Amino acid sequence: MEYNCTCIDCKQASATWVCDECQELRDKRFKEKKTDTGLKNGDQVVMHTCMEAKNPKYAGKIWTVSSEHEWELCGSMVVMLEGFSGAFASQYLQKLDFTK
Ligand SMILES: [Zn+2]
Repeated sequence: MEYNCTCIDCKQASATWVCDECQELRDKRFKEKKTDTGLKNGDQVVMHTCMEAKNPKYAGKIWTVSSEHEWELCGSMVVMLEGFSGAFASQYLQKLDFTK
């Protein structure tokens, strides 16, 4: 299956859901700890790179955050996901907002 991805930040065509430039900005913001994603227990998220989305194991999969909140691990903010072994960098997760 082919995925045509658009950067969720700048809406430009991109091979990933967040283009390199925007990912760099996100990484930078995370490193400076000026922001976090605010993910918390029970939040529903998807992995927002096409690479993971293309993996049949994760394609279109909605994950539920199972840790109380995110925490810092080796310089990145991470969360635990239900059914996923290990922590996952929250900068690569997009929270699903069903109110929109
Ligand atoms: Zn972008």
